[in-house]
Amino acid sequence: MPGIAGAKILLADDDQSLVRTLSWILKHEGYEVVVAPGGEGLLSKLEEERPHLLLLDIMMPQVDGLQLLQKIKADERFRHLPVLMISSVQDVEGATVRALGLGAADFIAKPFRARELLARVEAHVRSSQELSRAQEEAQSRGALVEILHEVTDSIKPDEIYHILVRRVARALQISKCSMVLAKPGDQFGLVVAAYENPMLRNLQVELARYPEIQGALASGRPVLVADVGRDPLYEQERLRWQREGVHVATHSAVALPFSMKDRQIGVFFLRTTGEDPALTLGDAEFAETVIRTAVAAIEKAYDFETAVSDRKRLEKLAATDALTGCLNRRALSDVLGAELDRARRYNLALTILLADIDHFKVVNDTRGHLAGDSVLRQVGEILRRETRSVDLVARYGGEEFVVVLPETAMHGAAIFAERLRRRIKQHDFADPGEERLDLTVSIGLASFPDDRVSSADSFVALADQALYRAKNEGRNVVRQ
Ligand code: GH3
Ligand code: MG
Ligand code: MG
Repeated sequence: MPGIAGAKILLADDDQSLVRTLSWILKHEGYEVVVAPGGEGLLSKLEEERPHLLLLDIMMPQVDGLQLLQKIKADERFRHLPVLMISSVQDVEGATVRALGLGAADFIAKPFRARELLARVEAHVRSSQELSRAQEEAQSRGALVEILHEVTDSIKPDEIYHILVRRVARALQISKCSMVLAKPGDQFGLVVAAYENPMLRNLQVELARYPEIQGALASGRPVLVADVGRDPLYEQERLRWQREGVHVATHSAVALPFSMKDRQIGVFFLRTTGEDPALTLGDAEFAETVIRTAVAAIEKAYDFETAVSDRKRLEKLAATDALTGCLNRRALSDVLGAELDRARRYNLALTILLADIDHFKVVNDTRGHLAGDSVLRQVGEILRRETRSVDLVARYGGEEFVVVLPETAMHGAAIFAERLRRRIKQHDFADPGEERLDLTVSIGLASFPDDRVSSADSFVALADQALYRAKNEGRNVVRQ
C-alpha cells in the first residue's frame, strides 16, 4: 500500500469479533494494528503507541465512546490525532453528529463495507502523516533558526566551525563530529573543528585512511558507512588495521560534503563508536539540512570578513605613501597626535626625528627623476629597517622623512639618529650598473615633554628648527 506502509492504527473496541475482523483487514493492507480496550487505559495506550489514527467505537458496553473522545480531544498530546468513530445502525439518534462536533475526524457505520472503511482510513492516515511531518519540519526549522542565531552572532569562521560541529553533534546525539576541509583528490585534509575535542585546531589527516571522506569529496554526495567492520569501502583499511594491530573504535560513519560559494571545500564527518546505534540515512539527511542552512550563514560571515579586510586594506592604502610605502603626511598627523596623547596621559617620553636629504635636487638634476624616486624608496627602506616595530616612519614631504620614537627620550633618540646618519652616508644609492651614488642626510630632533609642543604640528615645527640648524652647520649632522 503506497505511502501508508507502516502507519500505525489503534483500535479501541470491546466487540471481540469486530476487533478481529478489522485487525485482519487493516493488517492485510499493510497497517500496523494495536488493540486497546476502551476506558481510562486508552489514554496511556495512546501515549505509549503514538498511532497515526484511532478507530474508536461509539458504543461500548462499559464506556461512553463520546465521553472518551471528548477526553482525548481535550488532551494537548492527542489534539491532532485523527479519530475515526465506529457507529452502529442502532446508534442513538444524533450520536455520530455529536461525535463530529466533538472533533472526530469521521465515522463509519456498522455494518461497513471493507473498501469504504479502507478508503477512509487511508485518507485520514495520510493527512495525519502529513500533519506530523509538517510539525516535525516546523520543529527542525525552529532548531535551524536557533543555529543561525548562534552562527550569525559570531563572525570568525573558526568559531563557526566549532558551533557547527557542536550543533550537528547535539542534534544527532552523536559524540563524534568533525569538520574537515579538503578538495576532491587532496591527499591531506585539515580538521578545523571536532566536537569531541574542542581544543583541536587545524589537524592534518591523511585522507587515504578515510575512504568515506574521499568518496564524499569525489562524488559531492554523502557517503554512509553503516559498519566499518563490514563495508567493502573499508576493506583496505581493515587489512591495514590487521597488519598493524590497530584497534579502531569507529562503528559507523557518514561523510557529508559541503560547499561554499559553489566551491566544494570539505566534509562534515560524523562517527559512532562501540555500542552507539549505527548512523542511518535519516541521520545523514538531517545533518545535511542543518549543514546546508548553516553554511549559508558561514558564507555571510565570510562576506563580512572580506568586507572588513577590504576596509582595512583601503584604510591602510589611504594612510600609505605610494612611492615609499611609509605613512603619508596625513596619517603621520593622526598617529603623532595619538602618540602625544598617550605620552601626556602616561607621562612618557616621545621623540621625533626629521631627516632631510642633503642636496637632493642634484640627484634629480644629474641622474634624473627616476633615480631620485629610487633614492627616496631606499631611504624609506633604510629608515624602516633601522627602527623598532613600535616606531613609525612617515614621508613628510618631498625628501623629508619623520620617524616617531615612542617611549624614547632625547638621549636615546640622538644615538639612534647618529646611527641612521652613518648608515645613509655609507650606503650606495645608485641603481644597479650605475656609478656609485653617495648621499647624506641632515637630521633635526625634538622631544616631548617640551613647553613648545602642544600638537603634532608644533612638534614637527620644533624638529624643523633643529633641522634648519643642522643644514646651517654644514649638513650631514644631527641637531636638537
Ligand atoms: P638641501 O640640502 O638644502 O635639503 O637641498 P635639497 O636639494 O635637498 O633641497 P630642496 O628641498 O630645495 O630640494 C628638494 C627636491 O626634492 C626638490 C624636488 O624636485 C625633489 N623632490 C621632491 N619630491 C620628489 C619626488 O617624489 N621624486 C623626486 N625624484 N624628487 C622629488
Ligand atoms: Mg627639503
Ligand atoms: Mg633636501
